Amino acid sequence: MFAVKSVWQYYVPVAGVLRLLDLFRRMVNDSLRIGLLYDALSLRKLSLLSYNQLAKYDSPSYYKLCAISRAAGILAARKKSVRRGYVTRTPYAVRPQLVSCYGFKIENGGLRIPVSRGKRFSIPLTNHTLQIISQSGVKVRSFTLTRNRLSLCIARDAPTVNCASTVGVDRDLRNLTFGNDQETSHYDLSKCVGIAKTSVRIVASFRRNDDRIRTRIASKYGERRTSRTSNLLHNATKTIVALAVQRRTAIVLEKIEGIRSLYRKGNGQGRKYRGRMNGWSFGEAQRQIEYKARWAGLPVIRLSRSETRGSSVTCPRCGERLQSDTQLERKLWCGKCRVVMDRDRVAAVNLSRRGRVRFARSRPPILLEAQGGAFEAVKGNPMPTVIPGVDAPKLTHQTKS
Ligand SMILES: [Zn+2]
Repeated sequence: MFAVKSVWQYYVPVAGVLRLLDLFRRMVNDSLRIGLLYDALSLRKLSLLSYNQLAKYDSPSYYKLCAISRAAGILAARKKSVRRGYVTRTPYAVRPQLVSCYGFKIENGGLRIPVSRGKRFSIPLTNHTLQIISQSGVKVRSFTLTRNRLSLCIARDAPTVNCASTVGVDRDLRNLTFGNDQETSHYDLSKCVGIAKTSVRIVASFRRNDDRIRTRIASKYGERRTSRTSNLLHNATKTIVALAVQRRTAIVLEKIEGIRSLYRKGNGQGRKYRGRMNGWSFGEAQRQIEYKARWAGLPVIRLSRSETRGSSVTCPRCGERLQSDTQLERKLWCGKCRVVMDRDRVAAVNLSRRGRVRFARSRPPILLEAQGGAFEAVKGNPMPTVIPGVDAPKLTHQTKS
């Protein structure tokens, strides 16, 4: 199973690097301008049109290719937004950056990149970065530099874990529940709700009527909120994937496309409720589980809306519809089995069962013999390709391995 992820760290740039970052930004902007002018959205067309235009920049030529590729990526994203009917602004790269999959080398515990003709700069890598990229089978495919961060895109062809069973993951506002018939466990994420609430209250408490200041403050608290919640979420998803690998269980997830339409204006819900439901990162937990599972070679099954219908109100023992009771908060009652069950656990168990049914039905031998790539999970898996187009094909660099 081919998996991609990234590892990042801070670094201290020198003047030459900062110049290069700005040069790259300007090259991206030039390509964007050309792409918009000639309506060239494909990488091929854009390269043909803008490569000569970038001749005036004193930069290694592979950075030019990467700049064109970056621009093509931005234009493709814009096209997608336009197609979906969003209002878009003319794309323009503001932040200095450098993305490249060519010309770098990892040697003596550092990343060596060419800065200008004949001049190289070496960024010392932290122990954490080195430890991750020196794991067996890990290849560094590209690097991204911003003013203070270095991010390495790494890839690995993970051997598929042979799974004997499945485990369901159910996410709601306050919980991440993980389990199957044998056992279920709970990850309490109510702290995230608390953090979100605090951030919203803090931002709302600022009264000054100045748009620029308000934007800056809101983004500051938004960043703080993200970093606080993502840490909690990362810990939970990491444990989930590690346990699933250890127990050899494929992960079953619910497809959550279209969930935003559940909490839209005019649905008869309160403004605060909608704010709370939409402010919760539906996709983030799944995204983390998916890429971590893929990295570990663990199969992921995504159940569609129709396959998960009623998964949180059906008794996992007898299939009877469960009754809710106002006195039992988030608990459900099965009249036939005469037991009270936890709503989230019921959902996780049902997901794992339905996933297992599909797992067995679609391809029985896959449980026994690994067939990486032919898997259900491969279809919808997001591939965090750093530079679309250029990132995938041949690579010229060498890595210390
Ligand atoms: Zn029952």
